[in-house]
Amino acid sequence: MHRPKPRLLIVGFGMAAGRLLQEISLQAPGLFDTSVIGEESQSAYNRILLSPLLAGESDASLLPLHSASWYRSQDIAVHTGDPVIALDTDSRVASTASGACHKWDMLVLATGSRAARLPLPGVDLSGIVSLRTLDDAEAVMARIGSTGQADDDRVRRAVVVGGGVLGLEAACALQNRGVTTTVVHNAGWPMNRQLDSEAGEYLAATLAARNIRFISDAQCKRFVATADGQSVAGLQLGDGELLACELVIMAVGIAPEVSLARQTNLSVARAINVDAWLRSSQHGVFALGECCEIDGEQFGLVAPIYQQAQVLAKVLQRCAESGPDASLTDVEPYTRQSLPTRLKVSGVHVFSAGTLDETGHQTSPSQRSLAWRDKNAGEYRRLWWQGDCLQAAVMFGDVDDSGIYESLIENRAPVQASPQALLNPAGLVPQ
Ligand SMILES: Cc1cc2nc3c(=O)[nH]c(=O)nc-3n(C[C@H](O)[C@H](O)[C@H](O)COP(=O)(O)OP(=O)(O)OC[C@H]3O[C@@H](n4cnc5c(N)ncnc54)[C@H](O)[C@@H]3O)c2cc1C
Repeated sequence: MHRPKPRLLIVGFGMAAGRLLQEISLQAPGLFDTSVIGEESQSAYNRILLSPLLAGESDASLLPLHSASWYRSQDIAVHTGDPVIALDTDSRVASTASGACHKWDMLVLATGSRAARLPLPGVDLSGIVSLRTLDDAEAVMARIGSTGQADDDRVRRAVVVGGGVLGLEAACALQNRGVTTTVVHNAGWPMNRQLDSEAGEYLAATLAARNIRFISDAQCKRFVATADGQSVAGLQLGDGELLACELVIMAVGIAPEVSLARQTNLSVARAINVDAWLRSSQHGVFALGECCEIDGEQFGLVAPIYQQAQVLAKVLQRCAESGPDASLTDVEPYTRQSLPTRLKVSGVHVFSAGTLDETGHQTSPSQRSLAWRDKNAGEYRRLWWQGDCLQAAVMFGDVDDSGIYESLIENRAPVQASPQALLNPAGLVPQ
């Protein structure tokens, strides 16, 4: 007898969902009756390219992960611009803002994160934005006059709150577009989570050379409004300084989007708790991407999310074939990866991999480090060792050797070369 295909419903249509659909099309084509529902008006797109888009170095046409014809060819029912507002896990129905109802046999939550906002007085003023979605990027581009806006209304001064990777990418993009930009950061140097203080100094000097003012150890106090009380006119700092501006980009981190999961009584810590096979606390409900956590690990980069998509496609296939209690012993689970960081700013080469703490100092007494620098050339690198194993590396300027360090850190195997030789394969003398 002909058995109906299991209905697979994916809620959230960002990078995780787009990749999962691709993995299913490769691993289990035609196995599911698949629907995906997204709140944004676009199908899944490459969010990573929003920074280059803002900098004028990429094009919106390059963003989509798949074409409309690809979804049709895969028989995937796509619903965009219609957020899911409630999930009924007893009757297995998702309801959307437009009143539509979607039934599922298997549910995947891929709702990502929201940009965090500092709860400061005035934070709801117009002109204080985040850079999370294509709509956000287009709104900023409209305000800075890259889309034919009247000259008088153009934003000329901007403040970026947050000197991490996204904040710096946004700041360089704005400055590139002719907006005078200040970065306000609550730590001693930019990218303090990935760089030690000396690499941070090189980066801060590069920002200064691009006429971006970087204010370290800053405390944001309140936003100041224009005379009509509607729009942002400035940011006041704890020391009293007022930074006049017409635009503020908040880049102070992300908060997993877990409201549906909480409403549905799934187990949620900061994000949705799933095991290494992406199974939530309820049968037949899975989660992946920035909305989930595995053994306390949360996600903010696509590499681990793409690994999750590969695992989940296999798990869904197994459950479709053998039921929700299918044995997964031969399905490779998600495994933690060591993730390097690179800054997507033209002409600024920064690399960081491995474990160093937020002060940029060693993470244990037995860890030792060795640095090399060429101040005139603006080049710096530091390696951290534990015994014979490379634990972390930071590079500024010339990052050509980053791949070598990345694989040594990832492999955790004893390194044969001497620390000096590894620090500087070209043979220059370390200082
Ligand atoms: C500007 C920027 C630059 C970045 N650069 C890099 C980089 O260089 N390298 C890197 O690895 N990562 C980068 N990232 C991070 C990367 O984009 C994210 O890790 C990735 O997009 C997370 O995928 P996701 O699917 O979990 O979440 P998202 O891509 O955010 O997708 C979640 C989707 O779910 C939707 N949604 C939420 N709630 C509902 C609901 N109730 N109903 C329907 N839909 C819902 C959201 O609107 C969103 O479209 C960058 C992110 C940004 C914003």
